[in-house]
Amino acid sequence: MTTRRIGAVAAAAVLALGLTACGSDAGDTGGSGSTGGGDTAGGLKIGIKFDQPGLGQKKGSEYSGFDVDVATYVAKELGTEAADITWVQAPSAQRETLIETGQVDLVFATYSITDKRKEKVSFAGPYFVAGQDLLVRSDDSSITGPDTLDGKKLCSVTGSTSAQNVKDDVPGVQLQELSGYSECLPALEKGTLDALTTDDTILAGLAAQPEYAGKFKVVGKPFSTERYGVGLKKGDTALCEKVNAAIKKMVEDGSWKKAIDANLGPAKYTPGAGNPPTPDACS
Ligand code: GLU
Repeated sequence: MTTRRIGAVAAAAVLALGLTACGSDAGDTGGSGSTGGGDTAGGLKIGIKFDQPGLGQKKGSEYSGFDVDVATYVAKELGTEAADITWVQAPSAQRETLIETGQVDLVFATYSITDKRKEKVSFAGPYFVAGQDLLVRSDDSSITGPDTLDGKKLCSVTGSTSAQNVKDDVPGVQLQELSGYSECLPALEKGTLDALTTDDTILAGLAAQPEYAGKFKVVGKPFSTERYGVGLKKGDTALCEKVNAAIKKMVEDGSWKKAIDANLGPAKYTPGAGNPPTPDACS
């Protein structure tokens, strides 16, 4: 699933393009996927993270991770082959803007469904449920949960629920906000920062990177519920419904579980309660 056979995929895409062009509905306006309702015959621009191993990662010209696999499956159900997906980097703070301005059609980027975000975008899903946790140095036993962060130096990312949650709930903490979680690791390793906080999925993937082997540990007591949704243009209910149908199919045919095992298995991450979730009704 994670292996990208570029040649084969490209060949299949050429074939698929011909087929979709012939097969599009007479009533369709055709086009780029920005016409709403999930007409994606012209390809899809999909926002993912580029620096979150196991979830969304760019290495050279290869994209891998659970978000990438779910996105690829959903795109296929919408009529877009893997080779017709344009992957766009979607840092936490830019996700709503990327959707609002049409720079992406869909976002699969560890993107929690929240009421605040729903003021600007709509969500299909959820397709995964994670929880916020803490990553610390392996030899640090002083941090055991959010109640032990007073006076500690914490790192997180601008525009994330992770940063917002600690700002709301842990007033004594010194929070440094960077633009991506991977940027926190060198300072955590050196000791200029004491902990990194975000979803347990992301922390597991970052800690499992060979260059950091044995250096960090995830505290392992999740203190929030992060329901990963698929961000899309506000009010595009037709597209939302198609994405939800694809997510349900992915769970039912076993592909969801396979994608979990392939992408999060190497980091020894096991999905917690609530997985796999049932998508919410679109609105
Ligand atoms: N899931 C959280 C969020 O959407 C944290 C991870 C992230 O920043 O992507 O804000």
